[in-house]
Amino acid sequence: KPLVRMQNVDKIYSNGTVALKNLNLDVYPQEFISLLGPSGCGKSTALRIFSGLGAYSGGSMDWPQSMYDVSGKPEREVGFVFQEATLMPWATVFDNVFLPLRLKDKSKAQMTERVNEALALVGLSGFAKAYPRELSGGMKMRVSIARALVTQPKLLLMDEPFAALDEITRTRLSNDVLDIWARAKCTVMFVTHSIFESVYLSQRIVVMAARPGRIIGELKIDAPYPRD
Ligand code: ADP
Ligand code: ADP
Repeated sequence: KPLVRMQNVDKIYSNGTVALKNLNLDVYPQEFISLLGPSGCGKSTALRIFSGLGAYSGGSMDWPQSMYDVSGKPEREVGFVFQEATLMPWATVFDNVFLPLRLKDKSKAQMTERVNEALALVGLSGFAKAYPRELSGGMKMRVSIARALVTQPKLLLMDEPFAALDEITRTRLSNDVLDIWARAKCTVMFVTHSIFESVYLSQRIVVMAARPGRIIGELKIDAPYPRD
């Protein structure tokens, strides 16, 4: 049973741009899936719809396994990592990761434990008291991954998370993301325009084309890309 099912989804922005046309996509539990395509093909639009942040104009989206009513926002099911780390500069790493828990129904001790687990997951246990400016670009990105995972979502959405990073950091972070995915046991949906990145990371690549944004093919990767 899929985790999320999109059927015939269209997205037309208010200025008339058709960003997605007839998108059909089933996303399965614990898979690592890439959305691959050129700039402007609708990847971010699709990701925002999966996140519940963006409305769609036609078609349907279901969470067949969810106990929540998914016509509402599936907030607890989804974590989102953006291109930029978007951390609050005045808050510590701990407080940045704590933020999504603030309005939830847990005790202070439980929430602290969740934050510490999330920081351990991304290998930043020793940095809870640090401030974003004290961290490298790759570390900031790992903090924003911890923030996305702190609510223990079933689906982690990543929108070109490496775009602002240099080549070496990107390679290192790719391996970190694979470790995090293996340990967090969630589905990762990874948006990229890099064929290499999608092949290196994912089990399934969904290829999109622009005008209007639609899926033109799919590639299954049977064995992981060789890594040392
Ligand atoms: P919606 O149809 O979801 O209401 P809007 O058309 O109101 O979206 O635009 C939302 C925001 O996106 C606005 O701030 C707008 O300036 C910005 N925007 C408009 N066109 C583009 C574009 N081509 N790419 C990215 N952002 C855009
Ligand atoms: P990608 O992530 O693949 O680069 P997007 O989903 O950002 O593609 O954009 C898909 C299409 O929709 C593009 O033509 C883009 O200009 C347009 N678009 C994106 N956001 C908006 C917006 N808020 N308002 C109007 N058009 C938009």
